[in-house]
Amino acid sequence: AAERVINFGAGPSALPISVLEEATQGLLNFQGTGMGIAEISHRSKEFQAFLSNLESNIRTQLDVPPTHRILFTQGGGSGQFSAVVLNMLARYRLLHPERTAEETVMDYVVTGSWSKKAAEEARRLGGGRVNVVVDSRAHSKDGKAFDNIPPHDAFRFSEDPAFIYYCENETVDGVEFSHEAGSPASFPFDILKRDTLVPLVADYSSSFMCRPIPRLADHAIIYAGAQKNIGPAGLTILIVRQDCIVDVDAAAKLGAAPVPITMSYKTLADAGSLYHTPSVLPIYIAGLVLDRMQKHGGMKHYEETNRRKALKVYDVLKEGEVAGVFRSKVQEGARSWMNVVFEVVGADAEKEFLDGAEKRGMKGLKGHRSVGGIRVSLYNAITEQEVDKFVEYAREFITERG
Ligand code: PMP
Repeated sequence: AAERVINFGAGPSALPISVLEEATQGLLNFQGTGMGIAEISHRSKEFQAFLSNLESNIRTQLDVPPTHRILFTQGGGSGQFSAVVLNMLARYRLLHPERTAEETVMDYVVTGSWSKKAAEEARRLGGGRVNVVVDSRAHSKDGKAFDNIPPHDAFRFSEDPAFIYYCENETVDGVEFSHEAGSPASFPFDILKRDTLVPLVADYSSSFMCRPIPRLADHAIIYAGAQKNIGPAGLTILIVRQDCIVDVDAAAKLGAAPVPITMSYKTLADAGSLYHTPSVLPIYIAGLVLDRMQKHGGMKHYEETNRRKALKVYDVLKEGEVAGVFRSKVQEGARSWMNVVFEVVGADAEKEFLDGAEKRGMKGLKGHRSVGGIRVSLYNAITEQEVDKFVEYAREFITERG
């Protein structure tokens, strides 16, 4: 492992070395079965026990109440862009069989590239109308960028939506809802005070288990791809309230779109996430990561560490701004703990910054191809010492250029 670099990539991203070492053993011989984890049956009692331990680990650490099921599937975040729409429209159809597609509204909060994509998929699938609750670009500094969380009074929720959708952390744009009580950049949870049950859906792909989830019990669905904080790509984790696990075939008889069998939450729930062969290896590595997290003190520990890590990077970013070397891309209050995005001022300055980082053994810092710039991803596996190394380098760069 000596030749490993510090990987600040946005996902797939760094995993803890101790987990990778343990997984290497498991690839050869899983729990003394004499078979590797990628070779053993998903119906074996050893694997089933492992899966159920993973589930209870998530339940304990995130404090998931018994009203919610934890389900495992494949297809990533993008798969859920579709699955959320299909399952929630089926649910809405069962509740309101008389309503037409025109009267069926899906509320999308658009604060970045991923929620925008999710809204596009909802539009593509049809079966209801997409209401853009708010588009944060309208509140940005330049009128074009996803650089903020709009004020609560800008959110235009519809009367009785099939669901309300938001993305907690926008990985590409580095914009995240604040968890500080009273922050203007928090999610407007006041919407939950309505008399009717509000089905709230959240994409937590790039912030899952980096800190506790506020109002978790009030969500209809929370989902995340594993490939940032939890494990390798190929595993998608769902936390679904029981009333959102519906008989999609009964809904189809009433006119809802048929739901592909493996995308139906009911299929997953009825089969204990084993309707078809699950992604055994990613599940295994995620299980090891979660065991390790539990040992380290769970969400409280990670919340504290991740807060410190982000503060350190934002502090040096501020120093760079004062010196005219860096330019932050996200407005204060809405800045992500997991993905810090900024620009390096000057022609070729970005390349110079990236080259210098690479020479010091730091990689994965290039911003998303759609927006450019620099992106520092600070997922759970990135240690404070590694953050210190980055900060030290950024400070050196400021001194040289400033
Ligand atoms: N949502 C968010 C917030 C993401 O960061 C990503 C991927 N980076 C996705 C959705 C899409 O996930 P996937 O690539 O697993 O389909």
